[in-house]
Amino acid sequence: MARSDTIRDINRQIILNYVREKEPISRAEISHETALQRSTVSLIVEELKSQGLIDEIEGESTGGRPPILLRLRAVGSMAIGVDVGAARTTVATGDLAGRVVKRETFATDPDLRTTVRRIETCIRNFMRSEPGIEGIGISLPGLVDSETGEALFIPHFKWRDWAIANELRETTGLPVRVDNDANAAALAELWLGRPEIRDARDFILVLVEEGLGTGIVFDGQVYHGMNGAAGEFGHMTIGKDAPVACAAGSYECWEAFASERAALARYAKTNSRSSADAITFEQLIDRALAGEENAKHALLETAYYLGLGISNLLKGLSPEAVIVGGQISRAWPVIADELTNAVAQSSICRGLPSARLIASTLGHNTRLMGALSLVLAGKFASVLPA
Ligand SMILES: [Zn+2]
Repeated sequence: MARSDTIRDINRQIILNYVREKEPISRAEISHETALQRSTVSLIVEELKSQGLIDEIEGESTGGRPPILLRLRAVGSMAIGVDVGAARTTVATGDLAGRVVKRETFATDPDLRTTVRRIETCIRNFMRSEPGIEGIGISLPGLVDSETGEALFIPHFKWRDWAIANELRETTGLPVRVDNDANAAALAELWLGRPEIRDARDFILVLVEEGLGTGIVFDGQVYHGMNGAAGEFGHMTIGKDAPVACAAGSYECWEAFASERAALARYAKTNSRSSADAITFEQLIDRALAGEENAKHALLETAYYLGLGISNLLKGLSPEAVIVGGQISRAWPVIADELTNAVAQSSICRGLPSARLIASTLGHNTRLMGALSLVLAGKFASVLPA
């Protein structure tokens, strides 16, 4: 991609996001706040208007002619997002700003065909009730080739070589984009996240879930690597004798030390006598936030290993920010200090300014927002990240 295209895309993104966040807003205000030249702003605004992404409205007159203000076009649902998780699958429609309009959730069936049939039924129902759908984005928990739209391997279900994009394109007639859950979540942070995240051009998203994945953003683009296999830092070696095995069966991987399952295993160990019942990660966080010592301990130990892995990423890639996504971001008040300390202690040079550690602002919707952004990012940028 040519350099000037990149700059134009960045300016476009900045302006569209300003409109989204501060609507109604005038061209002059955008120019003033972004330090972009007035002519650049006008040019891009015209382009966005002609593409139906923003509208002009009349502001309130303060005596003279009423000012012309800009706002994001309220077009209703534009995208369908499909978030296939290890436990549940969510199919939802979203508007241009990434707001979820309608959603349906069901337990992910280990049988691939059963899950596909349910996804297709949801999509067909949404397409019938929402006429403006322009595309489908799918987030998958495993190795995905986003260029061919193929799921290479989904460890949790042992699904292999599933040409999901082609399949859904044929049954729905809509364009379909597929990516790994952490990559899609990184894209969502880039296009739909809060300003403090969007301002970073290089960041890493660490998605802590059943497993642990990372999405790498360089210069405002998700880095996919060959066959889309980049970002598998969840399987870098962190130590020995982790509390659980990683998806590939190893007890030495980062995922085996720092995933939701690792935290739950730590908690189960300390609680073996008092409570035989298995709890969910959500409940573990609730207990920690309520002050239960064992729950806090399980999360803090997990945060330590999370920090250890993050410090390795910082040494190798030196991003501006690391965003932690997934349920664990809700436990930020409990884990933030431990995380920061673990990162600081294992850095090469103490005192050197380190990347910001940020909890994802997409909340429990991280993966779904990722799926939606696979379609919506194409609206925000004229050239989609490959
Ligand atoms: Zn592994």
